[in-house]
Amino acid sequence: MGEPSDKRPVIDADECTGCGLCVDVCEHEVLDLVDDIAAIVNAGECTGCADCAEECPVESITMT
Ligand code: SF4
Ligand code: SF4
Repeated sequence: MGEPSDKRPVIDADECTGCGLCVDVCEHEVLDLVDDIAAIVNAGECTGCADCAEECPVESITMT
């Protein structure tokens, strides 16, 4: 698991395929699929670990 950081994930909805891997990997249930696109639904729980970004096969999550 990645280390906590001040960065937060930004999802490129145009690139997201809706595979759900990022949703599954996030241990804090920050992400969910909304209309088959990954979305941040629980931002307050995000630790900035970047596990979601590393998991995404199409690199549609950027940590900023
Ligand atoms: S950075 Fe970590 S805690 Fe935040 S949404 Fe991604 S996997 Fe979840
Ligand atoms: S892992 Fe990437 S492509 Fe899959 S749902 Fe998440 S953001 Fe979309």
